[in-house]
Amino acid sequence: MAKLRACRACHYLTTEDQCPNCRATSMSTSYTGVVVILPGRNPNDDPRRSSYIAERLNIDKPGKYALKVR
Ligand SMILES: [Zn+2]
Repeated sequence: MAKLRACRACHYLTTEDQCPNCRATSMSTSYTGVVVILPGRNPNDDPRRSSYIAERLNIDKPGKYALKVR
């Protein structure tokens, strides 16, 4: 399995060199904690409305995120 990188801008986890979430190219291999935000019943729902974690991390799309990125 390829090593996941965390986007420094939005904390999205991916194996690519560019963040598919926000298109930033500043990726870090040094991060701690993984958070998975699951999609709601309506995929267009903002997860921040139903998830405390999503609200705290300001995550507006379901996906896999790092808790802390260095
Ligand atoms: Zn990003």
